[in-house]
Amino acid sequence: MKPAVFLDRDGTINEDVGNLFRVNDIVFIPGSIEALKKLQEHYLIFIITNQSGIGRGEFSFEEYLKFETEYTSILSENGVIITETKCCPHTPEYGCSCRKPSTQFIDELSANYGLDLAASFSVGDHLHDPEMGSKSGGRGIYLLTGHGRKHYRMIEESSYKPDFIANDLMEAAGIILGL
Ligand SMILES: [Mg+2]
Ligand SMILES: [Zn+2]
Repeated sequence: MKPAVFLDRDGTINEDVGNLFRVNDIVFIPGSIEALKKLQEHYLIFIITNQSGIGRGEFSFEEYLKFETEYTSILSENGVIITETKCCPHTPEYGCSCRKPSTQFIDELSANYGLDLAASFSVGDHLHDPEMGSKSGGRGIYLLTGHGRKHYRMIEESSYKPDFIANDLMEAAGIILGL
């Protein structure tokens, strides 16, 4: 069984510009590509992303899929292999079963790839990112990049507490690889 790191995309790997579906709008957060390179030496890397702009009709699922292919290619050209990406296109109001912090995508990936969820991590800049990892039996890391600093107060108000808090993905990689 292989351990995995489930990464949020916007605000975690790249800056969260809102409705990101154009290649020219990608701004990688400093150190994030290096962090992914370190992590992939020991973990399978997956992206799990909520893209409610699709559900609101702000961009189409076809535009999303085209972008996802280009995004994965850019990372690949930089030496980073994303094993698979999962996207929830729904608005919170829609009431789907796949939107984070749902563990549905993790459960599907675990079944397909034979993952060691207890040894896996979920990382991102919203509380639902680490929460998804903890709910699936692994651990969660909250990042202060993206919206993380702005929403930091929500940690105090929430009954869920992340296992770790890191300044950025590079620091999170250090925590994961140092354990
Ligand atoms: Mg995010
Ligand atoms: Zn969904």
